[in-house]
Amino acid sequence: MFELDARRSLAPAVPTPALASEEEEPPSRPRRHPTWHDVPEEQWQDWRWQMQHAIRSVRQLRRLLRLSREELEAIGRLEGDYKMAIPPYYFSLIDPDDPQDPIRLQSVPSAQEAESASGYALTDPLEEDKDSPVPGLTHRYPDRVLLLTTPNCSMYCRFCTRKRATLTRGGWEAIHPNDERMIDYIRRHPQVRDVIVSGGDPLTLPLPKLRYYLEQLREIPHVDVVRIGTRVPVTLPQRLFDPELIELLESAEKVYVHTHFNHPREITPEASRACRALIKAGIPVNNHTVLLRGVNDDLAIMRELIRGLLRIKVRPYYLFHCDPVVGAGHFRTSIWKGLEIIEGLRGHVSGIGIPTYVVDSPHGGGKIPLMPNYLVSMSDDAVVLRNYEGLLIRYQAEDKPATIRPTATQGVSALLQGDQSVLVPEGNERMARRRASTSRKSRRKGAATGTRSTSSKAAPRIPLPLVPDPAHS
Ligand code: SF4
Repeated sequence: MFELDARRSLAPAVPTPALASEEEEPPSRPRRHPTWHDVPEEQWQDWRWQMQHAIRSVRQLRRLLRLSREELEAIGRLEGDYKMAIPPYYFSLIDPDDPQDPIRLQSVPSAQEAESASGYALTDPLEEDKDSPVPGLTHRYPDRVLLLTTPNCSMYCRFCTRKRATLTRGGWEAIHPNDERMIDYIRRHPQVRDVIVSGGDPLTLPLPKLRYYLEQLREIPHVDVVRIGTRVPVTLPQRLFDPELIELLESAEKVYVHTHFNHPREITPEASRACRALIKAGIPVNNHTVLLRGVNDDLAIMRELIRGLLRIKVRPYYLFHCDPVVGAGHFRTSIWKGLEIIEGLRGHVSGIGIPTYVVDSPHGGGKIPLMPNYLVSMSDDAVVLRNYEGLLIRYQAEDKPATIRPTATQGVSALLQGDQSVLVPEGNERMARRRASTSRKSRRKGAATGTRSTSSKAAPRIPLPLVPDPAHS
């Protein structure tokens, strides 16, 4: 317990770190909160030092952040129920003057964790425990199993889907995982090709324990892929500066790392170095992002995150809708927000950077992909597709005679009839560029042959605008 008066008296002493400009493209410059300015670089880059000095209590937190009396009381009450851990490295990414800072929202407990506006909040939102034939192992999809190997994480994300096992004090005891039984289950089920080693964060396991899992899985011939789900590259990248850990992951042969960057500010030189160490060891690194209100529910932030990930050669893989887990309701957005973001990525960002937006459905329904609608209409002969620019395009998938009887019509129906092949929205930049380029070529050709191009011969057929031109209406 701690004393309220002492909390208040500490508030003005909070030092403020100099933050890098928000204009900066990731990877950003290294940051260090003034509290740790004098820590020698060697210690700062040592994961053991980072873990030993992680902020684990409200008592520590109040020395580093300005928190109102009400906030302190509320998060003090939560402390008995939920764990907290923020390594100094990750904490230094927070702007302490911004109560809505995206790194702070992810890591620092909030009074809202005790609330649920809709009452739709579940302890085990994915019903993993119900699909668990052996404690600690979830078998849901035909060829995949999930292993819960530890309740520990380097940083406890406040929105964690597995909060029941990770953040909740005493939650792990209810799961009772059994390493040998989990491995034996996989050995006895040849349909299992892909094993997700998760937790908690398996890269917080002692090396002998991690070695046990990876060596056992390497020796099971029907297991093709071992996916390690970890936030260590993001929250404690120093762990991956340890060559012994990298050698272990490399020797396991089947390993892929699935990490979890949520905001471009998390892409630091240290995080980049950690991912590079994995990639150099031949370990593919994919990223899961959780769509979080106030953190990354914004197209510009998501584009910056994706460009930063591509720059450090981490492939954006999934964008998860935030699960309806107890205490995380304030992070949840509408589905429209996710679709709006995907709409703003597809066509605007390299295809290798487009994550699949998924809802991990209740009742153990698994991941359901969602995307904006690109199929606008269809007939027996053709479909009408929409591209990212809003072009409506007639597309014939099969080479066969038309079956539709011609009828006077217009718009999308005319595309289905085959009267038109495309409708272009007004103001389309690419079409304007194309027209300009065609007319330049045509002028050059005319000059070379000594003829003058006429618009009827040289100009391309300009598609009808999708939106009527107000100047002519
Ligand atoms: S690192 Fe993963 S398992 Fe751990 S708290 Fe965060 S989301 Fe949950």
